[in-house]
Amino acid sequence: MSKIIDGNKISTKILKNLKKEISELKTKYRKVPHLSVILVGDNPASQVYVNIKKKRSQEIGMEFSLYKYPENVSEKVLIKTIKKLNKDKKINGIIVQLPLPKHLNERKILDEISLEKDVDGLTTKNLGALFSGTPYFIPCTPAGIIELIKSTRKNITGKKAVIIGRSNIVGKPLSILLLNENCTVTICHSKTANLEKEIKQADILIAAIGKPEFIKGKWIKKDAIVIDVGINRIKDNSLPKGYKLVGDIEFTTAQKKASFITPVPGGVGPMTVTMLLRNTVKSFKKKLI
Ligand code: NDP
Repeated sequence: MSKIIDGNKISTKILKNLKKEISELKTKYRKVPHLSVILVGDNPASQVYVNIKKKRSQEIGMEFSLYKYPENVSEKVLIKTIKKLNKDKKINGIIVQLPLPKHLNERKILDEISLEKDVDGLTTKNLGALFSGTPYFIPCTPAGIIELIKSTRKNITGKKAVIIGRSNIVGKPLSILLLNENCTVTICHSKTANLEKEIKQADILIAAIGKPEFIKGKWIKKDAIVIDVGINRIKDNSLPKGYKLVGDIEFTTAQKKASFITPVPGGVGPMTVTMLLRNTVKSFKKKLI
């Protein structure tokens, strides 16, 4: 039976240190880091994620501001807001909660965020910097995944890492970070010819697909490190909310094969938020230099 990688516990420890750091910065400079979030529409999951970001940032003494727009907002309005926040000296981090409604050009909007305030690390400039070996801000979910893998204290040099999913938010940047850790990296996607065969070779398996319990425990290599990024809502009328959250991996069977595994919820999710706040503190400190 594998050991659980407890994302909540690891996050709590990092947040405690950030809180202390912010308190010291406040004493010294009489100001604190400020994160601004742009939210479009009423997607319930996005609303939940933004609320968590607000709660955690306030818990550690950071300023938080929300810019909420209706579903039918224009690109022009969003870009105007981003430009205003770019210029505002009090703001250290700007993020646009994804996904955006279909009529909006996500790449165009994200790329309006200035490099210095792009604490999600998702602008073309930031991703390019990561790719070329001079990262500015590391995208939050991949950064959190690396922390979770490192928490196992296993030597991952030369290990085969298999990532399922090639998004700009998770799979692609994570592949660079794992290369930097000297892993041999394979990225799989919906057109991969024999997914099961690839997964069976993985010493480190990361699933970021968005399909509930898609990866079966029997496909997993014995003693692999397994990171489940997926967050999927499944109907469950016995629960007060009417749904439960599951990952992309069949947890109960995977747990029997892996050496370490992340749960959903309580694995990658809390780390993503924590890395966002860590990047915001970093942005604040860079401005002081
Ligand atoms: P995307 O939809 O952008 O990407 C999904 C990827 O999965 C694509 O590359 C797609 O392949 C691949 N895929 C889809 N079906 C299959 C299949 N049958 N076999 C192999 N690969 C497949 O999703 P995201 O990367 O944004 O998110 C993935 C999941 O992670 C979601 O559940 C999301 O909610 C969760 N997530 C969780 C975060 C956290 O903090 N815990 C943060 C970000 C995301 P192709 O490219 O060919 O279409």
